[in-house]
Amino acid sequence: MRFREPLLGGSAAMPGASLQRACRLLVAVCALHLGVTLVYYLAGRDLSRLPRLVGVPTPVQGGSSAAASGQPTGEPRPGGARLPPPSATSTQPRPGRDSSPGADSDAGPASNLTLVPVSPTKALSLPSCPEESPLLVGPMLIEFNIPVDLELLAKQNPEIKMGGRYTPKDCISPHKVAIIIPFRNRQEHLKYWLYYLHPILQRQQLDYGIYVINQAGDSMFNRAKLLNIGFQEALKDYDYNCFVFSDVDLIPMDDHNAYRCFSQPRHISVAMDKFGFSLPYVQYFGGVSALSKQQFLAINGFPNNYWGWGGEDDDIFNRLVFKGMSISRPNAVVGRCRMIRHSRDKKNEPNPQRFSRIAHTKETMHSDGLNSLTYQVLDIERYQLYTKITVDVGTTS
Ligand code: BGC
Repeated sequence: MRFREPLLGGSAAMPGASLQRACRLLVAVCALHLGVTLVYYLAGRDLSRLPRLVGVPTPVQGGSSAAASGQPTGEPRPGGARLPPPSATSTQPRPGRDSSPGADSDAGPASNLTLVPVSPTKALSLPSCPEESPLLVGPMLIEFNIPVDLELLAKQNPEIKMGGRYTPKDCISPHKVAIIIPFRNRQEHLKYWLYYLHPILQRQQLDYGIYVINQAGDSMFNRAKLLNIGFQEALKDYDYNCFVFSDVDLIPMDDHNAYRCFSQPRHISVAMDKFGFSLPYVQYFGGVSALSKQQFLAINGFPNNYWGWGGEDDDIFNRLVFKGMSISRPNAVVGRCRMIRHSRDKKNEPNPQRFSRIAHTKETMHSDGLNSLTYQVLDIERYQLYTKITVDVGTTS
């Protein structure tokens, strides 16, 4: 005769086999739940794994192991949308893209938490870079006693594309900056400049390119004309909206000193060590400065006829003032910078005509500048960390 278990809930009923079975079932369910939770936790909280592991079909299941393993949405996916490589957006003009600071502000950051196929348009909708970069570190130690190895430097800065181009990968910068360096026979200085500036410019989240404009031959050096050429040549590469004109031997000492454009022309090297960390005079606009494309065009660019050292920066200052602009500057602490000490270059002696020329900027600026610029490009070399354009600028007429 079979023993009949007492019914659960019966007044006199004692816990029996049914209750034990129910408890075991409950424990098993709890263990399963715990197991699934643990797997989910160990999988790095990637929600996309959960349905797969518990056998729930997902929209792109069946071969999408890259996506399922948490690969960023920017990577190619089998059967999914294929995005252009970063270089496609960083080195080519981007027609139609709104470069104003408010552009793309409604776009959220790209996410890798979903397995829903991402359309190329959506994947490219990165947010605008913030007004001030969160990557800045502040004051920096600048020294010129260590040798710089450009190959090593390129390896340490893998995000920089051929020709010295960089575009932030997590946000869209409104600052499309061409950095123009007038140059002749200063390779050692250039190495220091690249060594210090590339990391700074990346931390500033700029969309930038480096252009070294090399004056060929041994005629008198013409800094301002080389800067005009840099403006014109850089625009053939990309839709830059801002131009930073920098001497090759000047390094900022604080990365809060932004190498970008402002609503008024910007003087960047406002506190140079050689001038005791202050301006030599209030109208001083030499060393490093930044003009937007519009500001540069409004003054007909820079003068072409200052041969030798001095005066061209004062002429530029005059042009800006005559066009009703004022100078924007960082404060004298943020604006500190170091100059690499050197003796004066041959064929860059002080220009004796500079004082009389500066006195006539108002009349000359309309006929001497971008609209009278002539030169010949002899060579364009794309190095990993910069583009070098060698030009024949002619001679003093
Ligand atoms: C020259 C400028 C120069 C400045 C500081 C002035 O006399 O005209 O070209 O930048 O001195 O050295």
